[in-house]
Amino acid sequence: MAEKLGVYICGGCDIGANLDVDALAEFAANGKHSSYVTVAKSNPVLCSPEGKAMIEADIAENELDGVVCCACSPRAKWDVFKFGDKVQVERVSLREQCVWSYQEDPQFPGQMEVIAKDYTNMGIIKLFNSRIPEPELPDPYKTIMVVGGGYTGLNAALNAASVGYSVILVEQDDKLGGKAATMYKSYPLGAPFGDRAEKIDVAGVIAQVEANDKIQVITGATVEALAGAPAQYKATVGGTEYEIGAVVMATGFVPGKTEFLAPLGYGSIKNVVTSAEFEAMAANGGIKTAEGKTPSSVAFIVDTSLLMEGVSYDPCGDACDAPEDMPCDDSKEEVDEECEVFDYPDKESAKHLAYSSELTSLVALKHANYVRELAPNATAYVIYDHMMVPGINEKYYQAAQDDAGIMLTKGTVTGVSEAGSSVVVKAKNTLLGADIELAADMVVVPTAIVPTTAANPTMNFVYRQGPAFPDLELFDGFADSNYICFPYETRRTGVYAAGCVRQPMGLGLAAEDAAGAALKAIQCIESANRGMSVHPRSGDLSFPEFNFTRCTQCKRCTEECPFGALDDDEKGTPLPNPTRCRRCGTCMGACPERVISFSNYGVSQIGQAIKEVKVPDTLEEGGPRIIVLACENDAYPALDMAAMRGKSWSPYVRFLPVRCLGSVNAIWVADAMSKGVDGVMMLGCKYGDDYQCHFVKGSELCNRRKENIAESLGRLGVEPERVEQYEVSIDMYDQVPAMIDEFVENITTNFGPNPFKGY
Ligand code: SF4
Ligand code: SF4
Repeated sequence: MAEKLGVYICGGCDIGANLDVDALAEFAANGKHSSYVTVAKSNPVLCSPEGKAMIEADIAENELDGVVCCACSPRAKWDVFKFGDKVQVERVSLREQCVWSYQEDPQFPGQMEVIAKDYTNMGIIKLFNSRIPEPELPDPYKTIMVVGGGYTGLNAALNAASVGYSVILVEQDDKLGGKAATMYKSYPLGAPFGDRAEKIDVAGVIAQVEANDKIQVITGATVEALAGAPAQYKATVGGTEYEIGAVVMATGFVPGKTEFLAPLGYGSIKNVVTSAEFEAMAANGGIKTAEGKTPSSVAFIVDTSLLMEGVSYDPCGDACDAPEDMPCDDSKEEVDEECEVFDYPDKESAKHLAYSSELTSLVALKHANYVRELAPNATAYVIYDHMMVPGINEKYYQAAQDDAGIMLTKGTVTGVSEAGSSVVVKAKNTLLGADIELAADMVVVPTAIVPTTAANPTMNFVYRQGPAFPDLELFDGFADSNYICFPYETRRTGVYAAGCVRQPMGLGLAAEDAAGAALKAIQCIESANRGMSVHPRSGDLSFPEFNFTRCTQCKRCTEECPFGALDDDEKGTPLPNPTRCRRCGTCMGACPERVISFSNYGVSQIGQAIKEVKVPDTLEEGGPRIIVLACENDAYPALDMAAMRGKSWSPYVRFLPVRCLGSVNAIWVADAMSKGVDGVMMLGCKYGDDYQCHFVKGSELCNRRKENIAESLGRLGVEPERVEQYEVSIDMYDQVPAMIDEFVENITTNFGPNPFKGY
């Protein structure tokens, strides 16, 4: 607990022009918390050198252990308001959440002072109930394990070794190089980006790895088990146990099931081949038709819309490679368990993959160039619905356009059929509007890229939540964690994905990805070494603490942690793994017994801050009161930006930042309601398939828990509509003020005062 507090009120940035900052300092010094407020002062510009020096002098003179800075948002000047690791700091946003966003209500003028007093008291009580985290410091293993010895894995190993880290490189094949080593060429990876194709020196990269004494190469082996936690993993590979700090997962992709290519003639027309087969032809002696002739024309199909429509698919029919005795007539559940085909991510619809990528376009262009190189008299046709050549690769497309031997046409393929020795491709929606028919000696259809994580549990985690990455179906089998903000992270802290297991990509991007994932693995080891969280709360020293005497072993925390950070013993008592933890607080929000808290973010701490909001006994005495729990990742910055842009909102709301909506414990809502608060708004990230929640599941779990809260409120005679969750992304600063005002308006006009008001 911080018990000797200094409270400082800033008069800068319009605060002093609108609020009596001296009176507010007086209020803090002599108010209800005066017993632990040792000093309270105002200052014209608190972030100025003089302002900071004043605080530092007070800390030294009065041995303050906590400082409440009532000034700007905690997102501003964070580098100024730091006073060493013995003094905790709480920021009260008088600027953004009070002065800049203030909206006068003629019915109850002068609310700004009421708001400022509430926030000052909330800040004091939050800090009083906060402790400096005492991180657990492991004795870290620093070796990085790279799984996958393809182009990405080789580059990741070289990157990590180049900055001094020992690397164990595990490859399941008996030789290194992966798919890159079997490729004829790549599309150009350097200027001028328009050349036909480029030989990649994979053998040279392998030689560098093999000559590097920091890299131990293990081939013909897989990861049989990964137990422990970041900086303290024990990985079993080929029956031997290795001490590992972090993992780069570069296991690549497997080609998609070719059954789904049947609508494009694959499997029934002999001169229809996949792009993987075409690549192998080029690498192994040249392009030949099934009759052994060099083709005079080759058509490349880029679009997959026909495939997306789905195959009329009988799991036990001719196209099916499932065992004949598979119990397909029985329930779907049994089919799911038994059927190899239905194990694919798209099993519900048995369609082709639901996504396409730039790689499909670039590979088709590259293969058209192979035709021009290896069969110079032949014509290459490229038929595309969407030609995706982002960035500099546009030059590759332009070079193909300028090549008289390459015919590019937009068109949606409607059918592929055999006509004598030719294959006929029909397409509609062409640029000229007319339907077309093309006859070619050979047709090349795209190979689907399925991440290896969709096919099997590549890491074999010894975790309570199981050996695989969770929820892969939702992300097409990619081990996603937050695609937008944290591209390399998976849902297992310490394991970073790179290359085609992360997203379809060519060799140039794969090399960059390898460097990114290697850096994340290093950051993970070094953060664990300091007891810090890696991401998204980088540098956070707190971690969940359990008061086990109250634990009922209900397992909610172990089941709901989005990152598998909690194991449990045979009775169900949680066993925390601090270095796996991302400090989201989802476990804290889940626990019905309030067992879990952080030293500086706790159930009772936030509950007490909510109680600091002064709620008038009736609406007529000072209007309603609404608590807004705002996620610090997107919603809180959106509010800051709204205030900076001069937006305002109802003077009856009081904000509390939360680490994630997943950390919201139902007791906070219950406490607020029993205190007479008229409504609770929860502002958090988008959830669902295209979620933006920085902790993946937090906002979704909150929404699920909200239903239970609503039910409980209903039983008490309180309208469930008084508690609502809203999805707010960081760019919604223009919308969020209106959302707040509408909520307040709805509560006051449609529901009136909370029935508990005044009790
Ligand atoms: S839910 Fe969040 S805070 Fe709790 S153990 Fe898991 S990662 Fe850590
Ligand atoms: S949610 Fe709370 S009561 Fe349930 S197992 Fe976890 S710590 Fe124990």
